[in-house]
Amino acid sequence: MKKVIMIKYGEIYLKGNNRGFFESLLLKNIKYALYGMQATAKRVRTRYFVENFEESQEDEIVEKLKKVFGIHSISKAVEIDTTKDEIIDFCSKIRLENCTFKVDTNRADKNFELSSMQLNCLLGEIILNNNPTAKVDVHKPDVTIFVDIRENKKTYIYYKDILGAGGMPVGSSADGLVLLSGGIDSPVACYQIAKRGMHLTGLHFASYPYTSEQAKEKVVKLAKITKPYTHMKKLLVVSFTEIQEHIHKYCRDEYMITLMRRFMMRIAERLANQVGAKAIVTGENLGQVASQTVESITSSNSVLEVMPVFRPLIAMDKEEIIDISKKIGTFETSILPYEDCCTVFLPKYPLIKPNLKKVLEEESKLDVENLIKNALNKVEEIKI
Ligand code: ATP
Ligand code: MG
Repeated sequence: MKKVIMIKYGEIYLKGNNRGFFESLLLKNIKYALYGMQATAKRVRTRYFVENFEESQEDEIVEKLKKVFGIHSISKAVEIDTTKDEIIDFCSKIRLENCTFKVDTNRADKNFELSSMQLNCLLGEIILNNNPTAKVDVHKPDVTIFVDIRENKKTYIYYKDILGAGGMPVGSSADGLVLLSGGIDSPVACYQIAKRGMHLTGLHFASYPYTSEQAKEKVVKLAKITKPYTHMKKLLVVSFTEIQEHIHKYCRDEYMITLMRRFMMRIAERLANQVGAKAIVTGENLGQVASQTVESITSSNSVLEVMPVFRPLIAMDKEEIIDISKKIGTFETSILPYEDCCTVFLPKYPLIKPNLKKVLEEESKLDVENLIKNALNKVEEIKI
């Protein structure tokens, strides 16, 4: 008998001929999540097994696995040889008190001598005989004893499926460049898009000396907290000061945010091309603030040449976003009160529905190319 952690995947089941690619990637990501821990991971057909760990580390391993996209469920199981005697012997030692239970057998190995139903009845009877205060309830049992008979001549017995993160393995989609501010939304956007398999590089706009070193450190911290989900290796930090000062000096006040967003998008597209990202990701949310109306989004999208922008939070309520940020552990850091470049030159009355023709007129007062070139000249790269 051996203790193992058994992992089942989710949507990968739906894949056809290229399922092998997703299965191998998920194994790689499981190993990445467990890096530095004493444990081994392997795949046997459609299951993954983590083995050779100290029992005291079991919970920590489960917590790490809960952050791996592509995993549907995780079970702390025991592995025994697939023989009728071994299975009966193990189940005879199960002790239950004052509860209802059922046995739920899954027989992937069709050569096993008993059908699932026969085994459910046989094991149920044995457990019942050994536990006078337990009762069978096949509809809503307190405890379900899962017996999973696999093709590798091993049987796995466990009580509980712990829900995994779902989604697709990170790296199964193209890479993205995420605009990461220190707020609540963008770290949640990282989580949401990484869930669909996108590996992320971060991009942050800082505005020294108007924004502080701590404000940047906060963004680095958020990138690190979300790293188990996003696998982010680096955060690019671009100085936005000159651009903001020029807009402030040469353009009408109410155009500040609208023009800033257009600069952000242009810089993001160029940096995305440099790092091999094929999409830009933001934490924008329809109607949340002036820069997130349909008209404002049209204005910032229109500077892009080909790159798509993904806004995974576009239709979510703030409460839903906050719930996720608490779940993934970014909330407490996000609410620390440091300034963001977007708040530095915030006009009293930002444009809510910018007219693109007028935006272009206003922008023509600036040397856009030169400002972008200067910003791209000094990009700081921070290892996450
Ligand atoms: P967040 O909570 O993520 O800060 P927000 O609700 O404050 O978002 P905005 O400030 O309008 O909204 O920003 C919208 C999106 O623009 C952010 O989610 C982020 O993707 C991007 N963004 C804003 N400020 C920055 C910044 N300083 N650096 C990089 N991206 C930024
Ligand atoms: Mg913000």
